[in-house]
Amino acid sequence: CAAAALVVRHRIKSSGKWARALSILTEFEEKCGTPSSKLKQVADAMTVEMHAGLASEGGSKLKMIISYVDNLPTGDEKGLFYALDLGGTNFRVLRVHLGGKESRVVKQEFEEVSIPPHLMTGSSDELFDYIASALAKFVATESDSQHVSPGRQRELGFTFSFPVRQTSISSGTLIKWTKGFAVEDTVGQDVVGELTKAIERAGLDMRVAALVNDTVGTLAGGRYNNPDVAAAVILGTGTNAAYVERAHAIPKWHGLLPKSGEMVINMEWGNFRSSHLPLTEYDQALDAGSLNPGEQIFEKMISGMYLGEIVRRVLCKMAEEAAIFGDAVPPKLKIPFILRTPHTSAMHHDTSPDLKVVVTKLKDILEISNTSLKLRKLIVEVCDIVATRGARLSAAGIAGILKKLGRDTVKDGEKQKSAVALDGGLYEHYTKFRSCMENTLWELLGEEASENIAVEHSMDGSGIGAALLAASHSQYIEVEEP
Ligand code: BGC
Ligand code: MG
Repeated sequence: CAAAALVVRHRIKSSGKWARALSILTEFEEKCGTPSSKLKQVADAMTVEMHAGLASEGGSKLKMIISYVDNLPTGDEKGLFYALDLGGTNFRVLRVHLGGKESRVVKQEFEEVSIPPHLMTGSSDELFDYIASALAKFVATESDSQHVSPGRQRELGFTFSFPVRQTSISSGTLIKWTKGFAVEDTVGQDVVGELTKAIERAGLDMRVAALVNDTVGTLAGGRYNNPDVAAAVILGTGTNAAYVERAHAIPKWHGLLPKSGEMVINMEWGNFRSSHLPLTEYDQALDAGSLNPGEQIFEKMISGMYLGEIVRRVLCKMAEEAAIFGDAVPPKLKIPFILRTPHTSAMHHDTSPDLKVVVTKLKDILEISNTSLKLRKLIVEVCDIVATRGARLSAAGIAGILKKLGRDTVKDGEKQKSAVALDGGLYEHYTKFRSCMENTLWELLGEEASENIAVEHSMDGSGIGAALLAASHSQYIEVEEP
């Protein structure tokens, strides 16, 4: 995924405003540099912080949250379960019919509902009422055969993709919002309590059986399909990872040792920070102007909510100081978050010789027209630098986890296979990001590692995973005959 920088630089004559634009580009590219040596330091720092976060509460920027999931799906899960997946600009409600070992997922239905922006910064009751009423509407579409037996409550797995201090498998308090949410009165509250009250207000009879982060859901969904899955990573609007830890390697866990000897940890790696991270003035300005300054620094360099915004900030600087779009800075370009990652991804993947997609995006989103081909190439290059840095840093994070698990190197004669389940819109749709991330992982671990380690897309695993965990934590769980 080496940047095509040199090629472009050759073609752009270094004169006047171009010289200035190029020097801004070159400086940005240098500051964003992620050679292997640096990424290895990032991976090592990740491993160190993992240890610190497991040692004591507040011991690290990495919260290393104990998920209370000490058993992952086996395939035996049976019954009809609901799931609710809240974490970005949309939320999904799912109904999953699990058929046990033989028939697995017999049927799954879902509906996606977008969250009106004003609810993302409004009151807790309004947000949860909106969600619960969408859930009630979805429940109303149950067919006769899907009704739970009389006297039996419907059960739900709640995927809530924000940092939550879990207090049990089915409760936890919100530590803080991320990704553009800022519903102040939810912070510090039990989110299951908030949801349950709204479910009652909506007149629905349903119990939340499991509260899980999307990474934990993805890990559960991934494990259901592949027993080698040991970690899960979300690369979407936000970013995070979860993995299976040995319970006795968690000093801060004072509870009973789980029978399995294992515990899933939600790392909340979005909040990772290290002096080895290649931060630029644009990242600093983005952070300062964000809803959560000083927080989620790793996430702000990697995830879909921010990549487009970084590109916009670089273009803005070039417009101001090198007049790349003419004497005035185009007014739309000054609007934070107007340029979204799907737009920069489309420009980055433009293969037409005259960069038609770039022309269209500039016009439609930023109301910029009459650009030269060399300027469009420069813009594509900014997209490339930003995506490459994000992809390579996420690979370093994954390498750090594998290292912590002792699965980063191929040991002689060892047959252990590990798989990492990935999901999220950035991973799914941004092809260049995805392939750069995967290539970088092999660059860091060595090509031979790919024989023992697999990276796989776990499509919509977080929703199904939550339903599976609701099933294994059902109040009606059948006790197996000895
Ligand atoms: C949240 C995590 C979540 C991740 C991916 C982050 O902003 O803090 O809890 O897993 O986004 O959705
Ligand atoms: Mg999601």
